[in-house]
Amino acid sequence: MKDLVILKIGGSVCTDKSRNSFRVRSDVVKRIGKEIRDARMEKAFRLIVVNGAGPFGHLNVKRYDINNGLHTEKDYEGFSKTLSDCTYLNWKVSDTLRSAGLVTMPYPSSSVAIQVKKKLVSVYLDNMKRIWDANDSVIPVLNGTMVPDMKLGSSPMSGDAIIEYLARRLSPKSIIFLTDVDGVFDKDPNRFADAKLLKTITKDDLGNIKRYATGSSNVDVTGGMLGKLKNLLELNSQCYVVNGNRPGNTRAVLLDEPVKGTLINPF
Ligand code: ATP
Repeated sequence: MKDLVILKIGGSVCTDKSRNSFRVRSDVVKRIGKEIRDARMEKAFRLIVVNGAGPFGHLNVKRYDINNGLHTEKDYEGFSKTLSDCTYLNWKVSDTLRSAGLVTMPYPSSSVAIQVKKKLVSVYLDNMKRIWDANDSVIPVLNGTMVPDMKLGSSPMSGDAIIEYLARRLSPKSIIFLTDVDGVFDKDPNRFADAKLLKTITKDDLGNIKRYATGSSNVDVTGGMLGKLKNLLELNSQCYVVNGNRPGNTRAVLLDEPVKGTLINPF
């Protein structure tokens, strides 16, 4: 069977996350699609794409105050609006990749994932596996979104959470995070001009990473970014964090060519 790669197109790449606007960056997604197509002409691999939600998720969840469960009719209205927006973004990313010459299959996470108290507990993968039985070049496109929650009605699930779940079950050769910075730094590079890029992170660095996370003035975001790393280091896959806004990076990282970024190596 061909190697599997999981590619996350972060919300900071596929949407206008920095301006907090509900805009899909179709030009960027199409360029990434062409780079995937080019890489696949040189090397055969199975691919899953996961798109982050950006404002389509975060802004709606904040506006409707539905981060901690659905309790009122108004909460359900907010849930419906968030789901509608996130599913639109998922379709749009899938369709834009399709227009770049890829055979994609929208696989909206809200229809296949279940959480309990915000923790992802199951994802129905059979549809993905059956289509691969027929043709393993088809690219399922999942997303970060609101999903049913057995205790809370529904809760937000990040693209990163579903990637971790998929990685534990499908053992991808590599996981690539396309984001809007050049990798993982010792502090937020958008806030600190002297932030240093961490080229490689291994299990031995975990102590340092925790220090950086708690030492930052932006604990929340830094904690979010660096907090993910601990889980990634438990997986048996190489993970890369690279800048998806830089043309050429996606193709190069898919082909194992040198790219500026961070390699999270569990070995
Ligand atoms: P989404 O979660 O919506 O898919 P994403 O995965 O593209 O988004 P973010 O979760 O927004 O990306 O993470 C990228 C941001 O993290 C950067 O824009 C940067 O400002 C911020 N950040 C905070 N701490 C760090 C750090 N130590 N190294 C790199 N980026 C950091």
